[in-house]
Amino acid sequence: MFWDKTNETLKGKKLEALQVRRLKQTIRQSQHVGFYKKRLTQAHVRPEDIKRPDDIQKIPFTRKQDLRDGYPFGFFAVPLKKVVRIHTTSGTTGKPTVVGYTRNDLDTWAELIARNMTMAGVTENDVFQNMVNYGMFTGGLGFHYGAEKIGMTVIPSATGNTKRQIEMIKDFGVTTIHCTPSYAMHLSEVAEEMHTSLDSLKTGIFGAEPWSETMRSSLEERLGVTAFDSYGLSELFGPGVAFECPERDGLHIWHDIYFVEIINPKTGEQLGDGERGELVITPLKKEAMPLLRYRTGDITMKMEDGCLCSRGQKIGRITGRSDDMLVIRGINVFPSQIEHVLLKIPEVGNQFMVYVDKVNHLDEMTVDVEINRDYFSGELADLARIQKKVVQELHDALELRTTVKLVEPGSLPRFEGKAKRVVDRRGDAI
Ligand SMILES: [Zn+2]
Repeated sequence: MFWDKTNETLKGKKLEALQVRRLKQTIRQSQHVGFYKKRLTQAHVRPEDIKRPDDIQKIPFTRKQDLRDGYPFGFFAVPLKKVVRIHTTSGTTGKPTVVGYTRNDLDTWAELIARNMTMAGVTENDVFQNMVNYGMFTGGLGFHYGAEKIGMTVIPSATGNTKRQIEMIKDFGVTTIHCTPSYAMHLSEVAEEMHTSLDSLKTGIFGAEPWSETMRSSLEERLGVTAFDSYGLSELFGPGVAFECPERDGLHIWHDIYFVEIINPKTGEQLGDGERGELVITPLKKEAMPLLRYRTGDITMKMEDGCLCSRGQKIGRITGRSDDMLVIRGINVFPSQIEHVLLKIPEVGNQFMVYVDKVNHLDEMTVDVEINRDYFSGELADLARIQKKVVQELHDALELRTTVKLVEPGSLPRFEGKAKRVVDRRGDAI
């Protein structure tokens, strides 16, 4: 099912021509922003210099810090009276980032959400419960207007009061839900405690935090839904930037609205299909707040063209943040990859620590992980078996030899909030 088949399946020269035209327009629009006017002049880039999509490399990157420095309205390309809505993204430190939308921007955004949800197979016959924050967070209103555009019956339940959420799902015959994967897990646990089954559910849309395939199977089984991954970023409207099709093998990123690059986060060089790096996006149809080559900090890869659903450009699921990336003997490693491997091994727990050292000029990575007593006989031979298994699984996933140390349950540090699981003890740590 398509919402906008022409644009979603655009290919080849036609797509390139549209991207170039919109890229030029975006550069023109960004010249209304002091920051970009200066940047573009310094880099000697004019809209007419863009002849093909690759010419985008002439433009310098935009970083999250640049947006913070522009607080509050420094990145608006239109007068405030043309801005009909403001959202902010929470920053871990200091002021938030402010995002503005014109009426056309809100329309474009709702269109994107409508494309995504239609791609997931939902229609005006579905009842949709939107269980995310409706405040400054873009997930609430973003999905709300997109779902209304399709004509779904929308329940703006927002967050909190899980028992009431479950009652509404039952009483209103909700078929489709949107929330974070961790909230969905909580929902299923509370439903279980209430001895309630949520039979009307068919489709689960989960986003706003990275989640694994293991989590997907678990949610699908517990909630009886088909689970779709949704990726978005408030700086780029909000949710709706990339989304899974029914194949659920990578996320389609709307090639007529977002120009995608993958770069090596250390050098800024563009990477090819299948190579993991930092996602850089240039939105091609944004009025209030145009952005050029925005470094998202999220790690993924471009996938080869050719999805069974016949839509265009896909990216892999997000595996982490570029700030978390480690380079071990030239191989990029993310703590999230290690976590995914450990989650699949019942003999060990979820808590782990990674230590990186330089030994005889070589990078050595040691992973400490807690043993799970339920799967451990207590015999020394069993310990060796488990250790070998973890080393092998890590090697298969990372293509890297690691040292694994099995430790007592409960002996590793627990983290409230963002976990700090990596200790880099190399002298030249980056
Ligand atoms: Zn597809």
